[in-house]
Amino acid sequence: MSNNPFNSDFELDKCAFCKLDRELRESHIIPKSFGKWVKKTSATGFLRNAENPNLRRQDVWKTKLLCDECEQRFGVYEKKFMEKIFRPYHKSADQVLEYDIWLPKFIASINWRILKCYQLAGALNNYPRGLRILIPKALSKWHDFIVGEITSPDGFELHLLPVDLLESHTFHDLPSNFNRYMARGFGTDIVYSSKAGFIYTKLAKFMLFGFISRGDQDWKGTKVTLGKGKIKPKTKYELPGGFGNYLIERSQKVQDISSSYSETQREKINQFIKDNPEKVTNTEMFKAFQQDLQMFGDRAFLEEE
Ligand SMILES: [Zn+2]
Repeated sequence: MSNNPFNSDFELDKCAFCKLDRELRESHIIPKSFGKWVKKTSATGFLRNAENPNLRRQDVWKTKLLCDECEQRFGVYEKKFMEKIFRPYHKSADQVLEYDIWLPKFIASINWRILKCYQLAGALNNYPRGLRILIPKALSKWHDFIVGEITSPDGFELHLLPVDLLESHTFHDLPSNFNRYMARGFGTDIVYSSKAGFIYTKLAKFMLFGFISRGDQDWKGTKVTLGKGKIKPKTKYELPGGFGNYLIERSQKVQDISSSYSETQREKINQFIKDNPEKVTNTEMFKAFQQDLQMFGDRAFLEEE
């Protein structure tokens, strides 16, 4: 992945989505409401960095991409997702969540934005040719699906996977921050193998996927309905084994960045936890940390590594 296709100025003179000659707004690639949620559910700014070392940069992932009208269209889906799925699930994973066409449209809009930025930044040049030739088609199918010109984006499937803290695992060498990554990690990436390729977006306990090529990979239970549907507790999801390894690598990367904190930064974080125990223990992040501690023991403490 190139450094950051999302902070570039593409110098567009037309809206990238509707192609109309309108004044462009600064568009957030990862919607602003998620950044706000992270701040609210973290104990401090320090902790926000400790759990999501990259977030400060992602927080400002914005670029002039869309006109006001298109921004507002995307905003409607975001708001629904926040209210009906994201917030309720983070309160309790043990409930049925109902959705409608706005959910696949929300997932399509996230994927469209990310892929469009990669394309405009010329950041896709190193991807396999088989994947690259499908990108214009993926963009136009997601666009047409969002505006309602087609009722299905066909092979460019939209998937969602709710995750939670691990109760147990059978992996070797699971990074000791794995629960924190699962519960709190934010970010996006284009993941590919020789046959399959998809956009992966992590929004705390939700993983969103936009397939550019599904290949022969086995994904069960994650594909969203293109209309009314439900997210139910205890659904059995099946993912290709390679994706588990990818998640381990991904959380390892976050940990590597955290490990590079200076002594002073770590002392500040530790001091804050000591001084404000009540603030810290009520946070979602702390619950994930406790689970890491239970599972990985002292390894969960970065400073002891
Ligand atoms: Zn527009």
